[in-house]
Amino acid sequence: MGLRSSTTTEMHFEGVVIPEDRLVGAPGQGLQIALSALDAGRLGIAAVAVGIAQAALDYAIEYARERQTFGRPVIEHQGVGFLLADMAARTEAARATYLVAARRKDNGRPYTRQASVAKLIATDTAMAVTTDAVQVLGGAGYVLDHPVERFMREAKITQIFEGTNQIQRLVISRQLADPTR
Ligand SMILES: Cc1cc2nc3c(=O)[nH]c(=O)nc-3n(C[C@H](O)[C@H](O)[C@H](O)COP(=O)(O)OP(=O)(O)OC[C@H]3O[C@@H](n4cnc5c(N)ncnc54)[C@H](O)[C@@H]3O)c2cc1C
Repeated sequence: MGLRSSTTTEMHFEGVVIPEDRLVGAPGQGLQIALSALDAGRLGIAAVAVGIAQAALDYAIEYARERQTFGRPVIEHQGVGFLLADMAARTEAARATYLVAARRKDNGRPYTRQASVAKLIATDTAMAVTTDAVQVLGGAGYVLDHPVERFMREAKITQIFEGTNQIQRLVISRQLADPTR
């Protein structure tokens, strides 16, 4: 559907010997180390998602100012203006959410839950905002002439990789049950 600039393929490792001096951490810690890498990755995905949402919003605003129906720019029809307002509010809220998590990381504080919250909120926002951007452009949004259909396709993967959003809810709910996790 998207990510066309990046090759996506499965990798298989069979009978690979790794020299002992290349060991990361201590034996038995591997999964924990691998999972901790996901926290930072989730922040990155949240930032990407906000970028996609912002690009879709900017394009939709520009188009809605230009496109005229019934004698006025479509942005002046309340149905479209309020849709854009909701898109802007969601994008700003998502940006604030991942910045909270990023500041905790920068300050050396635990941020596992905040990273999952940021990934969940930002990527669901990107999906909603890009879908609405297609709506703002009407039929023009659905065809290849404008980038909003691509933004919508690119937003979808952010809800799936680096842990699906169902898994983010699992991380968050487990932490709520036991804050030491
Ligand atoms: C384009 C692309 C790029 C990718 N890049 C990478 C990469 O660079 N590195 C990498 O390691 N992986 C990468 N992945 C893999 C990606 O992280 C996984 O696809 C993703 O984590 C989901 O796993 P899955 O596909 O096995 O889905 P499944 O685990 O089979 O999930 C299927 C459905 O069940 C839900 N589900 C599964 N378990 C639970 C549960 N316990 N509770 C509730 N719901 C659940 C999921 O949310 C999903 O809706 C990439 C995938 C794609 C498509």
